[in-house]
Amino acid sequence: MKKILVMGGAGYIGSHAVKHLVEKGYDCVVADNLVYGHREAVAEAAAFEKADLAEPASLEALFSKYDFEAVLHFAAYAYVGESVTDPQKYYQNNVAGTLNLLAAMKNHGVQKIVFSSTCATYGEPHYTPIDEKHPQSPINPYGRTKLMIEQAFADYARAYGLKYAALRYFNAAGAAADGSIGESHNPETHLIPLVLQAIQGKRPCIKVFGADYPTPDGTCLRDYIHVEDLASAHRLALEKLDGFSGYVNLGTGVKTSVKDIIAAAEKVTGKKCPVEQAPRRAGDPAELYAAAHGPAETVLGWKPRYMQIEDIIATAWNWEQKRRF
Ligand code: UDP
Repeated sequence: MKKILVMGGAGYIGSHAVKHLVEKGYDCVVADNLVYGHREAVAEAAAFEKADLAEPASLEALFSKYDFEAVLHFAAYAYVGESVTDPQKYYQNNVAGTLNLLAAMKNHGVQKIVFSSTCATYGEPHYTPIDEKHPQSPINPYGRTKLMIEQAFADYARAYGLKYAALRYFNAAGAAADGSIGESHNPETHLIPLVLQAIQGKRPCIKVFGADYPTPDGTCLRDYIHVEDLASAHRLALEKLDGFSGYVNLGTGVKTSVKDIIAAAEKVTGKKCPVEQAPRRAGDPAELYAAAHGPAETVLGWKPRYMQIEDIIATAWNWEQKRRF
């Protein structure tokens, strides 16, 4: 039986995709360098191999050992601020590393890839909601590394017949409904885990970055998409890759402000969140949200199951209370 290679399958979104694929009967091999990933996050039914995009020999060994049908590629550095202070790390791993992966795929006749892209490839929005035709003009190195790979895909498709789906996530959030895995970044920079940790007293407070945005409550609006909905979208994309290649936004189309997140977390937990007002964070647009009913729905046949922010936060809260890693 042919296998699915999940590069970066020990990370936050990758591990939820592996869990979903395994539950749907797919035979997965997870490869991860475990720099940011967690071995404990990988479903027991998946094989695990330590491999690094920076080492072509480790990729060659992987592709020689197994017969892969397709690759799901999550292995990337994703701290926007760090991408500004250390762009080399981002271009080396996210761009050069992915080119190593594409070379190994080409050498071994593997033609299908589903890729973690991002709404950060759009940059400062020209209009909202954001559809796939929105101009792409990323404002940080992280976004540029993802856009470069999207562009390479189109060229590799024309020249070598690569089949690809680049999934542009909005704000990934939440944890597995059964509480077995969830978000665990070090350092953590994302709003929802930081709010929940402030509520638990693990952090002194949540700093709200900016209250003077041109939005109804003055704080930034984002589109929070549950990580299990992202996982199902990857499987659907994988299943569509024989007839489809392209770029797909993954969001709910629902706008939620920073203040809405804090209020929803207080409601879910029944506890007060200590809040401190802070200046705007550089590079944060006022609002980012996806156009609903785009190709995710019309081409992949995907619909997010989690549409209420309280439901998303409830899964994150369940995880925060019993996290294993
Ligand atoms: N945010 C905040 N305080 C924090 C972290 C984030 O106010 O400690 C805000 C941030 O400015 C943005 C939203 O929360 O408007 C989501 O930020 P996050 O880093 O979770 O995701 P991003 O939108 O940057 O991908």
